[in-house]
Amino acid sequence: MSRPKVCVVGASNIDLISYVPRLPALGETLHGSTFRTGFGGKGANQAVMAAKLGADVVMVGKLGTDDFGDRTLANFRELGIDTSQVSRSDEAATGVAPIMVAPDGSNAIVIVTGANDLLDADDIAAARPSFRESGVVICQLEIPVGVTLAALRAARDEGTRTILNPAPAREDLAPELLGSCDLLCPNQSEAALLAGHPVDTVSQAANAARELLARGPGAVLITLGGDGCVVADEGGVDQIPGVTVEAVDSTGAGDAFVGALGYYLARGDELRSAASWANRIAALSVTAPGTQTSYPERVELPPDMLASLA
Ligand code: AMP
Repeated sequence: MSRPKVCVVGASNIDLISYVPRLPALGETLHGSTFRTGFGGKGANQAVMAAKLGADVVMVGKLGTDDFGDRTLANFRELGIDTSQVSRSDEAATGVAPIMVAPDGSNAIVIVTGANDLLDADDIAAARPSFRESGVVICQLEIPVGVTLAALRAARDEGTRTILNPAPAREDLAPELLGSCDLLCPNQSEAALLAGHPVDTVSQAANAARELLARGPGAVLITLGGDGCVVADEGGVDQIPGVTVEAVDSTGAGDAFVGALGYYLARGDELRSAASWANRIAALSVTAPGTQTSYPERVELPPDMLASLA
């Protein structure tokens, strides 16, 4: 079986995480207990998840000409991700997310998108051959919205299926975005903002999925944390149940889900089957700490999942 081909257009960030006794007050200097860095950015996370499952992944993104950019590139390359469409700019720093985490889990986060904001239409034009050769193109909303739209349209022109993960959440989403993707894949809070009503229950999610489907995407999939997801398309609306696990850290679970979904769709699975596999992969990511570090390697998968990948 040839390897599924996945192209991800999106952001890469370096998380700079300080563990602090409490969140500091205005003007206060505190001593933290521990510091660590992590690779992040929704696009990068999704690319890494698909690559860990064994996809041939092309990342389309922009980094600064700085040390964080070097480290991000090295991380992609170590995972076998094609970085020929990752360009560098000396006009902005690589995206960073300084994060403070208090013992009770509360946090304060600053995101400086930096070079991610400089990804432009020329980069999308240059990536067209990669779109053409991919089974799926995945986009999010951490780069300029117009560039995401250009990527979705270019991928469609090339005849490639598109997934839009409309994250981070925003309600002012250009209507063309919804009509330009084959699969819209929000989480509950993103779906609630787009639908304009709460999405706290499975039945509210089913209603939101139906409503969003009427706004133009080929299909809608709303992720529901431990409850799995609901899928709406011309075949109807169905819940794909989640997998019960001992949750340790759900950071990045949504990106694990989208990256895995991209892998399974690119290899030709039907949407509901792909969603069911993606639930299992994302659930595994919830059982380990961190973001990309929590994404399972092939060798860590249960035997039936590994066999299904072979
Ligand atoms: P979310 O972004 O919270 O909707 O989570 C994305 C996906 O991760 C869900 O659709 C599930 O497949 C999985 N997931 C998240 N949290 C849990 C959990 N506590 N238990 C099992 N699976 C989870």
